[in-house]
Amino acid sequence: MFHKQECRIQNLAREYCKIFSAEARVIENFGPSLEVIPVYLMYRPANTVPHATVEADLKGVYLRYSFMDYSGRLVMRAGSEVEQKCCTLQHWIHQWTNGNLLLTRLEGVDTKITNVGISIKSTGYQGLSATGNPKVFEQFVSQHQCNYFCGLLGLRSLKALDSLTMPAKHKGSRSPLLQRKIATGSSSPQTGRKAAGSPRLPRKAELEGPAKTKGPKS
Ligand SMILES: [Zn+2]
Repeated sequence: MFHKQECRIQNLAREYCKIFSAEARVIENFGPSLEVIPVYLMYRPANTVPHATVEADLKGVYLRYSFMDYSGRLVMRAGSEVEQKCCTLQHWIHQWTNGNLLLTRLEGVDTKITNVGISIKSTGYQGLSATGNPKVFEQFVSQHQCNYFCGLLGLRSLKALDSLTMPAKHKGSRSPLLQRKIATGSSSPQTGRKAAGSPRLPRKAELEGPAKTKGPKS
């Protein structure tokens, strides 16, 4: 069970990363992109541990680019180019999934990423169950610093994203108030009143109009 979930998560991250890399590839200054290496589930019925995961051996210096510390806080490194690209990938997936999925563990050798860990905002997203610290999403939004590569991909600032998601939440309750505020606040009192009254005035005029025109006639 554990291995199956692990495989699903990494291969899901791999598919997202492919789209990310396809976008990055057409940007001249992006340089080499990241690759989440595939991990395969192997079934060995005769073995005491019937399921095992298999992946390519990564040769070189194995580094942790992003991880959750013992207290459940997200640690994001942004010193090297690969670390910055990992931060950009985190931002990109966050934006791509409308803030539902976050890569919380990224490690590997150079641009080859493995042992991917994710957090999802609510159970059911992509058929996964929400695990880990739910505050990690807020933490990511407040801590992520957009870098050069976020800029190259034209990612929206996470602060802007915050203000975009807020109106959607309160849309139903606040729209009448907001409209009133706009009507009175944005324009001068006189034009505001005119604008607010205008839908009524023509109706009144229409109603009174015929009576008045009838008057002089009769
Ligand atoms: Zn960013």
